[in-house]
Amino acid sequence: MTGKSGKTRGGRAHGTGGTDGTGTGYDVVVVGGGAAGLSAALVLGRARLRTLVVDAGEPRNAPSSHMQGYLSRDGMSPAAFLAAGREEIAGYGVELLTGRVTDVTRNGAGTGDAGFAVLLDDGRAVRARRLIVATGLKDELPAVPGVAERFGRDVLHCPFCHGWEVRDQPFGVLASSAMSVHQALMVSRWSKDVTFFLHTVAEEELSDQDLRRLAAAGVGVVPGEVAELVVEDDRLTGVRLTDGSVHARSVLYVGPRPVPRTGLLERLGAELSETPFGAYPVVDPTGLTSVPGVWAAGNAVGFAEQVVHAASGGYRAAAAIVGDLLMADLDAAVAA
Ligand SMILES: Cc1cc2nc3c(=O)[nH]c(=O)nc-3n(C[C@H](O)[C@H](O)[C@H](O)COP(=O)(O)OP(=O)(O)OC[C@H]3O[C@@H](n4cnc5c(N)ncnc54)[C@H](O)[C@@H]3O)c2cc1C
Repeated sequence: MTGKSGKTRGGRAHGTGGTDGTGTGYDVVVVGGGAAGLSAALVLGRARLRTLVVDAGEPRNAPSSHMQGYLSRDGMSPAAFLAAGREEIAGYGVELLTGRVTDVTRNGAGTGDAGFAVLLDDGRAVRARRLIVATGLKDELPAVPGVAERFGRDVLHCPFCHGWEVRDQPFGVLASSAMSVHQALMVSRWSKDVTFFLHTVAEEELSDQDLRRLAAAGVGVVPGEVAELVVEDDRLTGVRLTDGSVHARSVLYVGPRPVPRTGLLERLGAELSETPFGAYPVVDPTGLTSVPGVWAAGNAVGFAEQVVHAASGGYRAAAAIVGDLLMADLDAAVAA
C-alpha cells in the first residue's frame, strides 16, 4: 500500500552508518509516545533514520474526552489524535513499542557519539545513537474527595483546554496552588459566576491587590476548608465545606502540582533547573539537554507546554538530531 506522499506503508527506515543491523541498534530512541514523541518520530522517520518509540501509554490528557486549541484538530479526542500519529509514523517505518524505559546509560565517556543503552521493562536492551526524552509529567491533584474521580470532566485545571465548553456555568476555583488567584481571575473570562474557595488558605494571605482584582472581576471569595465535592447523576453539583454548607457549582477549577518525569534525565546526569512548578532540564532552543546526544521535548521540559507546543518541541528536537547525526557521520568519513 502506498502512502499519501509516495512512501511505502510499513517500509523500513534507512538508518545511518551507526546502526548495526542486529535489530537492537537505532539511530534514535524516543522515550514517550505522546504529542512530543510522536511528532519527533514523524520527522525522524521522514528523514530515514532508524527510530524506535517506546511508550508507556499514559498521556497527560487521557482523562479528557476532547482536545482543544490545536488548529485543525480542535475538539478531536486525545486517543484519536495519538492513533492518527501512530499510523503516520508507521508509514515511515518507525517502530513503536508499548512498554516502559526503565533505565538509560551512556556507552563510555566523551561525546554523545558513543551512544546509549536503553533498558526496557521486558528486560531487553536496545542501543541508540541519540535519545529524545518526551516522557511528559504527572498531575498531582489536591487531596479533596471527588477531585481525582472527576478530573478532566467537570473538575478542570486549564480554561484554554476546557473553558469554552463550560462557559457561563457556575464555576468554583479551589485555592490549591501558588497560581490559584491568577486562575480565579483568568476563568472569569469564561463565566461571570465564579466563587473562589480559600480552602486551607487564610484570607489574610491574599494581598490587597489580589482582593481588589478579585472584586473587580466579580469573583466571590469563600473562606473555609472544602470537605468534598457533591456529585449527583454523575455530574458535579456542588462543593461542601467542612462546616456542612454546600455551594452549588457545576465546574471546579483546581491547580494540580506538576511532577515532571525526569528520572531518566537525572540518571544521565542532565542539569535540571528548579521552578515553582517542578525541576525541568536545562535545554537549548532545540531541546538539547546538558548531556550530549540527549534531547527533551513537551511537558518533560515545561509544565505549560500544550499539545501544539509539545508537537512543535518534538519536531525541533528531531530536526536538530537529523543534522547532528549527519555531521557526525561526515566528520567520521573525513577523519577516515
Ligand atoms: C485533563 C487535561 C486536559 C488537557 N487538555 C488539553 C487540551 O485541550 N489542549 C491542549 O493543547 N493541551 C491539553 N492538555 C495538556 C496536554 O495533556 C499536554 O500538553 C500534552 O499531553 C503534552 O504532550 P507530551 O508528549 O509532552 O506528554 P504526554 O502526552 O503526557 O506523553 C508522554 C508519554 O510518555 C510516556 N512515558 C513516560 N515515561 C515513560 C517511560 N519511562 N518509558 C516509556 N514511556 C514513558 C507516558 O506514558 C505518555 O504516554 C490537557 C492536560 C490535562 C491534564
